[in-house]
Amino acid sequence: MTLTNWAGNVVFTPGDYVRATSVEQVQELVAGAPRVRVLGSGHSFSTVAATDGLLLSLEDLPLSVDVDTAAAEARVTASARFAHVMPALHQAGLALHNTGSLPHISVAGAAATGTHGSGTGNRCLAAGITGIELIAPDGSLRTLRTGDKDFDGSVVALGLAGVVTALTLKAQPAFDVRQYVYDDLPLAALAENFGEIMNSAYSVSAFTHWNGPTMDLLWRKQRVDEPEAPQTYFGARLADGARHPIAGMPTENATQQLGVPGPWHERLPHFRFEFTPSRGDEIQSEFLLPIEQAGAALTALDAVHPQFRPALQVAEIRTIAGDDLWLSPAYGRTTVAFHFTWTDDLSEVTPAIAAVESALADFDARPHWGKVFGLSREQVRSRYPRLDDFEELVNRVDPQGKFTNAFTRAYLDLPA
Ligand SMILES: Cc1cc2nc3c(=O)[nH]c(=O)nc-3n(C[C@H](O)[C@H](O)[C@H](O)COP(=O)(O)OP(=O)(O)OC[C@H]3O[C@@H](n4cnc5c(N)ncnc54)[C@H](O)[C@@H]3O)c2cc1C
Repeated sequence: MTLTNWAGNVVFTPGDYVRATSVEQVQELVAGAPRVRVLGSGHSFSTVAATDGLLLSLEDLPLSVDVDTAAAEARVTASARFAHVMPALHQAGLALHNTGSLPHISVAGAAATGTHGSGTGNRCLAAGITGIELIAPDGSLRTLRTGDKDFDGSVVALGLAGVVTALTLKAQPAFDVRQYVYDDLPLAALAENFGEIMNSAYSVSAFTHWNGPTMDLLWRKQRVDEPEAPQTYFGARLADGARHPIAGMPTENATQQLGVPGPWHERLPHFRFEFTPSRGDEIQSEFLLPIEQAGAALTALDAVHPQFRPALQVAEIRTIAGDDLWLSPAYGRTTVAFHFTWTDDLSEVTPAIAAVESALADFDARPHWGKVFGLSREQVRSRYPRLDDFEELVNRVDPQGKFTNAFTRAYLDLPA
């Protein structure tokens, strides 16, 4: 059976594909198979989930979101999508610290790749996980909690630490958010005042189609207790209507804007669950580097934009707080992320990615594991400082390399 990812740019034929219906069945299948990978919701653009061994889907297991209001935590099954988890938390008066741009993705899949949202004070989504339940190569089940020796290496783990069956998410009191969009922020103003602009609200993203020296859109998602948004901001004007990040796409696909207050889970994602997020016909890449380099990196990208502009649908610039998870692209540093939504034409996308990687060569840029990159094994290895610790962990818990695939073996020293 041939499968594709959500975008259709990854096509692969697993040796076997099973939609499991119970944890016990997954344990038996894992114990009996030489190679195992799990598919989340399939939203990664890289081949991180692909395998020629056994591919498991956990989507037919009973879904549960158990909220413990007193502890401000929720235990969720691995394949639960944020669209299912967030309303349950909100009903209990709780919130996650942040969301990605789309609620369509699974919690385990988002954790595995270090998926993040926007906001200098907000760590990636995996950094809000306090417990993880995993099936080991022999089929046994183990639980890791924050503070356990292997925890920081097992959350953002590209599926290599085991089959995740459930996760515990830390929550905080629910809050309301207003989303304001500005048009035409001068690119030079962003480069020169990067920290101030990106710190101006709880979650801030700048979008550009790189058609000229402006960021077409500045999205500020501010908690209702933050100061009112000014009419003009560093030369940008408050938008007179709703916007979609990609020019020409229907604005009803995007979350409510124009400063209308609403619950956190209906404002922090860019896209509504009921609609296709982003465009669909696309490939994505993202590179994460130290925030101190943001202005210089933006200027370096601007200098080569004619080289990548033909493949670009839209670029997004955002910030993320640093974390302690070994394979997180934001490990150990406050981060700026340069994201690119490309066309789906590889003949123009491949040279565009090469141009971006070359422009960012001096900035210690780490690739997003779930998006497409062309960096070499050596370049990737040099940018993740805890790779040795991660490899020691994986080789210890999975000495036969049962959970590896071609993607992970391309960058990591793992049993073949
Ligand atoms: C339109 C769009 C917008 C996006 N926006 C953002 C964004 O705002 N921020 C961002 O950081 N990323 C973003 N992404 C990327 C996306 O968040 C990641 O690729 C994420 O990993 C997708 O989750 P998934 O459930 O689809 O995982 P998949 O792509 O299915 O799998 C990802 C990895 O997780 C592993 N995995 C999944 N489930 C399990 C399990 N139960 N046990 C063990 N391993 C498992 C898989 O084996 C694989 O290695 C976006 C993607 C799309 C398509």
